[in-house]
Amino acid sequence: MDPSFVMVLVVVGAIVALRALYKYRLKVCPKCTGTGKVYSSLFSRRFMGCPRCSRKGEVRGAFGSPD
Ligand SMILES: [Zn+2]
Repeated sequence: MDPSFVMVLVVVGAIVALRALYKYRLKVCPKCTGTGKVYSSLFSRRFMGCPRCSRKGEVRGAFGSPD
């Protein structure tokens, strides 16, 4: 295959992927796995609001659009 054709495919693929990442800007919070709560390891019924996502359960992913 023509190397320049492969380059074009790679660039187009990257643009499509970046646009999808920009549009679908949120991802499930990795710290609380989307629950918004971080449970204590000592007391099973005690939890705190997730400090990463402030209890929303979602965070902006890489390349996500700003608010
Ligand atoms: Zn969280």
